[in-house]
Amino acid sequence: SYQRLKDSVAMITGASSGIGKAIAIEMAREGASVVINYHKTSEGAEDALAQIEAFGGKGIIVKADVSKEEDVKQMFDKTLEAFGKLDILVNNSGRQVDAPFLEMTLDEWEAVISTNLTSQFICSNLAARQFVKQAEANPSQEANAIGKIICMSSVHDMIPWAGHVNYAASKGGVLMFMKSIAQELAPLKIRVNAISPGAIKTPINKEVWSDPEKMPALMDLIPYKRIGKPEDVAKLAVWLSSDESDYITGEAIYIDGGMMLYPEFADNG
Ligand code: NAD
Repeated sequence: SYQRLKDSVAMITGASSGIGKAIAIEMAREGASVVINYHKTSEGAEDALAQIEAFGGKGIIVKADVSKEEDVKQMFDKTLEAFGKLDILVNNSGRQVDAPFLEMTLDEWEAVISTNLTSQFICSNLAARQFVKQAEANPSQEANAIGKIICMSSVHDMIPWAGHVNYAASKGGVLMFMKSIAQELAPLKIRVNAISPGAIKTPINKEVWSDPEKMPALMDLIPYKRIGKPEDVAKLAVWLSSDESDYITGEAIYIDGGMMLYPEFADNG
């Protein structure tokens, strides 16, 4: 059957768990060879690769801390060694280190900014250079993009979040980073977009969805009345990196069951 990412190579950061893992599997299903990045433990990455190989897909596993330039460089080297090129980068890695603002330390601030924001600079910078190098080496008559970058943001690139100011600031930064490089790279035919999820059921927010007492309050924020699945986001990531979305760049797509619709203003009476 038709595969929307056939013959492309996709690097997904933080692909050993949650949303990144689902994206790696879905992109491989659509024909991409995938680079499955993990940071600390490889189990989740190995499970993703096993699932991919079970349906005949291709992938490699690469350990890297995406906030470290040297780590990212070796991840790109391994990608080119294995697959000879890169077409799609998904900047997915992210973390929360929560604290009330009055107690937040500089270390807690920097831990989140470096993993969520600086990592997207490091990876996108190397990816864009690689896309340009490939296009120069192999000029084609293709009308479509020569490379695609997807930045994982959050509804908190717009919604302020008390107790999580490092996280919200990092995602606000991702949004303007994405738009600014999209503006700069569009003439080179590189598309850059963001995905801004609401509440997706992954390990990052387990303390909310595993607690029956916290779920009603979460549902008050979601007009569509269900928590998101990693697969919801993975399907959007596939479409956004395929030629079906070739005229879209610089856009942040909110995938949130309506969380951005100010549900507290709905007339419930
Ligand atoms: P997750 O905890 O399951 O996944 C985060 C991934 O990032 C993990 O694989 C982790 O190993 C990786 N990571 C963390 N630090 C890293 C580092 N220094 N180097 C490389 N990888 C690192 O959570 P998730 O929900 O799947 O999160 C994925 C992305 O989606 C994050 O950017 C997160 O901010 C964003 N997001 C999630 C939600 C949600 O509700 N789950 C909502 C909005 C945005």
